[in-house]
Amino acid sequence: MSLWDIEGKKKKKPLYKILSSKYRDKVPVYATIWSEDFKNDEKLSSRCEEILNQGYGGIKIYPLQKRTIDEAAICVSKIRQTMGLNIPLMLDLACPKNKNVSLKLAPLVKEFKPYWFEEPVDGEATRALKEIKNQTGLRIVTGEKQCGINHFIETLSADAVDIFNPDISSVGGIIDMIKIIELSNKNNVRVSPHCWNSMSIAASAMVHLCMSFPNTEMAEFFPEYIPYTLKFCDKNFEINNGLIELDNREGLGVKIDTNLLMENTSSYKFSILDKN
Ligand SMILES: [Mg+2]
Repeated sequence: MSLWDIEGKKKKKPLYKILSSKYRDKVPVYATIWSEDFKNDEKLSSRCEEILNQGYGGIKIYPLQKRTIDEAAICVSKIRQTMGLNIPLMLDLACPKNKNVSLKLAPLVKEFKPYWFEEPVDGEATRALKEIKNQTGLRIVTGEKQCGINHFIETLSADAVDIFNPDISSVGGIIDMIKIIELSNKNNVRVSPHCWNSMSIAASAMVHLCMSFPNTEMAEFFPEYIPYTLKFCDKNFEINNGLIELDNREGLGVKIDTNLLMENTSSYKFSILDKN
């Protein structure tokens, strides 16, 4: 990603204009909310409302965090009462160890029209994923923990997924991400990139990629991390009406306060040395 950034600066172009000539100016974006921070469903619902008012086009929650299967279904129904049925609501199950948890939850939430059902089991459990896909009829999402093209090829050949959410920081960078997008397109599977909790470098790289490949789905953002990111990195995006737009800066377009970063890095090193 650093090399792509250098290339963009050399050519005086933002990365998306280097990756493709058929780029989009804005891409759909959704917000992920850690549901365990809002154990009370009412608080979670009002947080969803706030986030949607900030311009995000959809919400992802973790209904099983600190909740039983029945409580998870009640939580989803309350969120839908707040946001209605038309705005995408993504459910991340975060890999329950037993696939039956997902199979039991699916019929309880189906009437609330989840946009997708993410990691109803671990992404490596291809057969179980396929079974859940067939039995529930919900859109299955997986891929955030995986790297290496072979895994994605195997999952596609098992017809076990509707949408991949590979993470640009985990899969090996921009070239591997492009390979996954091209491979998925050939198999009628969409790609909605995951963002590994970075709202700076990885998030920018991910948005550039979505701008370059019009057939990608919504990009993921973690609004809760933005205030922290803005302590060392200036803002290079705007979110309005469900879409994210980047400033027209060269390369990845991320400006980091490297002095601040160096200060923190050296104090981190010293604290490790002190401990030892
Ligand atoms: Mg996830």
